[in-house]
Amino acid sequence: MMMLQRNLRRNTVVVTKIIRTLGADRGYSTNQINSEQIKGEYDIIIAGGGMVGCTLACSMGKNKIFSNLKVLLLEGSPDKPFELKPEYSNRVVALNQNTKALMNSMNIWSHVENMRLQPVRHMQVWDACSDALITFSSSEIMDDDVAYIVENDVLLHAVNTELKSPEVSNVNVVYGAKIANYELPKTASDSRSLVRMGNGDVYSCQLLIGADGANSAVRQAMGVQNLAWSYDQMGVVATLELSEETNNITAWQRFLPSGPVALLPLNPRMSSLVWSTSVEHAKQLLAMPEERFVDALNDALWKQYPRSTPVDAAMSWLGDTLRQLGASGGAARQLTPSVRRAQRRAAFPLAFGHSTRYVARGTALIGDAAHRVHPLAGQGVNLGFGDVKHLTEFLGDALYQGLDVAHHSWLEKYESVRQKHNIPTQLAIEAIHRLYSVDLPPFVLIRSLGLTLTNALKPVKKLIMDHAVAT
Ligand SMILES: Cc1cc2nc3c(=O)[nH]c(=O)nc-3n(C[C@H](O)[C@H](O)[C@H](O)COP(=O)(O)OP(=O)(O)OC[C@H]3O[C@@H](n4cnc5c(N)ncnc54)[C@H](O)[C@@H]3O)c2cc1C
Repeated sequence: MMMLQRNLRRNTVVVTKIIRTLGADRGYSTNQINSEQIKGEYDIIIAGGGMVGCTLACSMGKNKIFSNLKVLLLEGSPDKPFELKPEYSNRVVALNQNTKALMNSMNIWSHVENMRLQPVRHMQVWDACSDALITFSSSEIMDDDVAYIVENDVLLHAVNTELKSPEVSNVNVVYGAKIANYELPKTASDSRSLVRMGNGDVYSCQLLIGADGANSAVRQAMGVQNLAWSYDQMGVVATLELSEETNNITAWQRFLPSGPVALLPLNPRMSSLVWSTSVEHAKQLLAMPEERFVDALNDALWKQYPRSTPVDAAMSWLGDTLRQLGASGGAARQLTPSVRRAQRRAAFPLAFGHSTRYVARGTALIGDAAHRVHPLAGQGVNLGFGDVKHLTEFLGDALYQGLDVAHHSWLEKYESVRQKHNIPTQLAIEAIHRLYSVDLPPFVLIRSLGLTLTNALKPVKKLIMDHAVAT
């Protein structure tokens, strides 16, 4: 009996030692191994399968350098079968040329084209408080489309189609997977993160990527500072039927003192609405009958707002001067379409967000988890796709050099490159939002002169366009 007990004790010590060694190798403590069942061990876990997280998973699945790595994508919502309905969704995004190039590189764009998209070849942005306007045309600035209007669902389905293709064999996708919390490496000797699911499952990984949107729990677990404020505005969206059929290749945006109202083309007869306005007004717009909503929208697009005589005089002088110099700028003002029906109204809160750090040990943030902008410039998800492109490239470089995929120097390179692009973009959008939120004549004067001059100076317009499509 004594002998049996001694053997049992000795065996227990040996087993404990083995577990400790294995645990140390994997970078988590024996307590964690003993108390929790690790359901799966991965090299990379992407938390959040929205448009940005799914695209990153696809990009890692398609890039051969990642082929030996195990990647897990966890998405809280269920995997719903997709069906392209004749009616358009009310959630759309304006995608730029670089996003198209990224999607093309993964064969995703052809799926979007096979479903539906609308190229934008002209853009007109104007001020309700003055005659100032700016236009961007494909022919004037670039030899390609200015943007593409794509429904969020269509894009997500296109990405998922490629993600499920036989070519992508290293990515495991779990839908309906609600993540409860994270345990990130605390010391330099810790090398793995734990991801605890709502159902009790636990996954571990070397690199955790937070693609879990504006309220990112990964960002909270990282303990990084997030500068965020609400605009006290909501973006009212709807699918619009226009009064007349046109070629409808123009995106329209009018800056009202209460916020911008934008019409994004869908087809010759339909456009998508993004109307940013106060929370109270948004609620009223959602509650009113369709007929009154359509009247309110046509007012927002057409109504003459009170004008300031000095602003009008200064604008008229600037217009004459530019004409004399032969520099009156872009295309002539076009007449805005009017709307006859508005279906599928909804509203979304608008806020600014900037995570001061995009990376921590073994962790990185992408998309809205790292940065959130006002939709007035149609940049939000394009910035996220820029993150995808650069993060894939930097991680690929680290692997190519024989380093760990979570090597901190390479994560820091990603952060540095992305913040250099994202922060100026966020600040520019913020400045435009603030400048157009007031209707005091001095502000109207400054922005109207600025917009008119920008419109007249092709190289400046080109710079703006180049930055908007750069990633
Ligand atoms: C009205 C409006 C108009 C817009 N128009 C444009 C535009 O024209 N152009 C443009 O570029 N951008 C636009 N945007 C911005 C764009 O919609 C966002 O930038 C984009 O949706 C962010 O994508 P994301 O994948 O980073 O985050 P999200 O779309 O928020 O995805 C995050 C994902 O993480 C999942 N998740 C979160 N927490 C958990 C958890 N605990 N467990 C499991 N899963 C989790 C969620 O289910 C979700 O699928 C607009 C935004 C609004 C509100």
